[in-house]
Amino acid sequence: MSVDLAPDPAVDTLARRTATFVREVVVPVEERHGGVARSESVRTNLQRAAVDAGVFAPHVAPEYGGHGLDMRGRAVVFEEAGYSLLGPLALNIAAPDEGNMHLLEIIAAPEQKERYLRPLAAGAVRSSFAMTEPAPGAGSDPAALATRAERVPGGWRIDGRKWFITGADGAAFTICMARTSGRPGDRGGATMFLVDADNPRMKLVRHIETLDESLYGGHLEVLFDGCVVPDSAVLGEVDEGFRYAQVRLGPARMTHCMRWLGIARRSQDIAVARANQREIFGSRLADLGMVQAMIADNEIDIAASRALILQACWELDLGRSGAQSTAIAKTFTAEAVWRVVDRALQICGALGVSGDVLLGRYLREVRPFRIYDGPSETHRWAIAQRVARAAAR
Ligand SMILES: Cc1cc2nc3c(=O)[nH]c(=O)nc-3n(C[C@H](O)[C@H](O)[C@H](O)COP(=O)(O)OP(=O)(O)OC[C@H]3O[C@@H](n4cnc5c(N)ncnc54)[C@H](O)[C@@H]3O)c2cc1C
Repeated sequence: MSVDLAPDPAVDTLARRTATFVREVVVPVEERHGGVARSESVRTNLQRAAVDAGVFAPHVAPEYGGHGLDMRGRAVVFEEAGYSLLGPLALNIAAPDEGNMHLLEIIAAPEQKERYLRPLAAGAVRSSFAMTEPAPGAGSDPAALATRAERVPGGWRIDGRKWFITGADGAAFTICMARTSGRPGDRGGATMFLVDADNPRMKLVRHIETLDESLYGGHLEVLFDGCVVPDSAVLGEVDEGFRYAQVRLGPARMTHCMRWLGIARRSQDIAVARANQREIFGSRLADLGMVQAMIADNEIDIAASRALILQACWELDLGRSGAQSTAIAKTFTAEAVWRVVDRALQICGALGVSGDVLLGRYLREVRPFRIYDGPSETHRWAIAQRVARAAAR
């Protein structure tokens, strides 16, 4: 069996172009804004620059203006984009828009693609994805879904409360998961709805203050209060929402890993530059054994994460579910990226916690990744169950 991990030449070229664009154009903007874009002008200027550089929307099909990369191609390019917190926003591959584009490409009807996917892929609008609910509703266990959608003449009426809905403020539409049959706790019975932002019964209740700040638009609590939508708002088939969520979540888990791996590399670069330059106790930090161990452990975590991501992407590209491999890659990478940024900060000493480098910002940004897209404990539980089931067969 031969194993060839080299990207094909077109992907390699796009990855190099992305790396150059991120270093020359995006990083200076990131440093100027402390890693957090808070205005539409920052977003649109970066996206225009990405279009000009020929690196915009690498994931979307060419008919929607993208480069049509498969998951393995995305792994290489997204990592380069992720080298800056603002790289994914510039390329229009940030969460949740990137995952929503992936879902719409696969599930949406042709007229829904024109109305929602086309402007989203062009960066003309943003979107959000509303699944999680305050307790006792959906979280690690999506089956707890409590938001309901009832049939009304010509459409559906949605009632429920969501929270941690990234980017909902300013999004043109939200993909809302609601229960159309069964009860909270049932494994089926969910449907996805496309809800336009101007629906008066979808109310943005508040911005939730969080550790992280870089995901554009913040995290919102959203109330669906007798929110009526037409039949044409149903995304895919009624009662198939949980199945579609897997279509979105497996790849979205991997693309988060790819982007955060870029930040891990950036952190390592900052730490290694400092270790080469800073002298204490008569030697450079880079010549002290315990610092060398941290640098080496960072390299090991980065390389292992990349290998696990590629393995999972290969399975997804083959059309396999990738349930086990994406869970393994997500759990490992989310924890590895945290370790890398934490070690990098340690190597830099007080500089690491200062605003003079962005390591403190990165640490805050990567921590929630051990919770969203499935907490580490949920994935470990699911991984172990699959192993035990397979062994019992
Ligand atoms: C920054 C951020 C952005 C987010 N963006 C979105 C978004 O855009 N849209 C959206 O719908 N949701 C979003 N979420 C929500 C996210 O998907 C949920 O937080 C996640 O699914 C976990 O659900 P929960 O917070 O309700 O935790 P809970 O379900 O209450 O779980 C709490 C803890 O229980 C433990 N646990 C879980 N499963 C097991 C198990 N099997 N065994 C033992 N322990 C376990 C874990 O430690 C877990 O952290 C976001 C969350 C964050 C933090």
